[in-house]
Amino acid sequence: QYILAIETSCDETAAAIIRNGTEIVSNVVASQIESQKRFGGVVPEIASRHHVEQITIVIEETLKDANMQPSDLTAVAVTEGPGLVGALLIGINAAKAFAFVHGLPLIPVHHIAGHIYANALVEPLQFPLLALVVSGGHTELVFMKEHGSFEVIGETRDDAAGEAYDKVARVLKMPYPGGPHIDRMAHEATEGIDFPRAWLEEDSYDFSFSGLKSAVINYKHNLEQRGEEIIPEKVAKGFQDSVVEVLTKKTVRAAREYKVKQVIAAGGVSANKGLRESLEKAFEQEGIAFTVPPLKLCTDNAAMIGAAAAHMYNAGVRGNLAMNGLPGKELKSWI
Ligand code: ATP
Ligand code: MG
Ligand code: FE
Repeated sequence: QYILAIETSCDETAAAIIRNGTEIVSNVVASQIESQKRFGGVVPEIASRHHVEQITIVIEETLKDANMQPSDLTAVAVTEGPGLVGALLIGINAAKAFAFVHGLPLIPVHHIAGHIYANALVEPLQFPLLALVVSGGHTELVFMKEHGSFEVIGETRDDAAGEAYDKVARVLKMPYPGGPHIDRMAHEATEGIDFPRAWLEEDSYDFSFSGLKSAVINYKHNLEQRGEEIIPEKVAKGFQDSVVEVLTKKTVRAAREYKVKQVIAAGGVSANKGLRESLEKAFEQEGIAFTVPPLKLCTDNAAMIGAAAAHMYNAGVRGNLAMNGLPGKELKSWI
């Protein structure tokens, strides 16, 4: 089984070919970070234009890297949502055209299911499973009792973790996307500023990061008003310590309550060194298997979409030529 997967939900134009849902045959990602940097974030209209320019090239390159013909493929998978509607539509239309021309079935994939299934490219998933999804637009704990079954047991009530990283980075005058910069700076300080932790209600698996973001902004303003110099590394470390502690403790509590066999981390923020180390240590102590994708598969890519699509294909999920971009698509079980 060979699946060609396409992902254009945000600012990466990506295509990949996945064999049997587990093996990456080829994986091409064209990032727009350089041109979006000038605006300090993703401008939807610019993202769409980039995707239009890149999509054909990226698909051709993926086939060439894999040394494969369209006739070798089993199906075409594409991110249906959530994401920027204009960006999604470029990938969806490319997938439709490719599937129609070559007579292949279409598989509509949820972007977050893709992030989760990036872990299936590392090792087979073990159920019941708990996924900590931390990305630019999402922060949630997802319980999976088997393949294709998703139950969101907690989510952010305001900012996503990646969004908080990017906003704090902007406050510290770091370029977009800020996550990797904060991560690096946090490791350059020995002591961090003591920022609050948002635990919310005792039994809640929800998250909140906007208070922490405000605390960082207030800290900076107060120092500036007193004419004192801020040490960005200490702010970065204090911010990261707060995010990592809350994410780790809530994930551990949920893993115990749901008695899972495996915990996985997924999404762009799971590339964070501090978070990876903290989760690895915590689940070693818990005696629960823990997996996180290699860095390249944490941020947006199409390999993860192909990995999810392989299971969807086997479960009989099919799209059609009437498929549309679903910017607010909810994570629903496919079994
Ligand atoms: P979503 O997946 O929710 O639709 P997205 O696709 O825009 O959002 P991803 O590509 O999964 O998000 O992740 C991008 C986010 O990950 C950005 O906010 C970025 O700052 C963050 N990020 C990337 N690397 C790191 C890191 N090392 N530490 C912290 N954050 C990081
Ligand atoms: Mg991105
Ligand atoms: Fe993403």
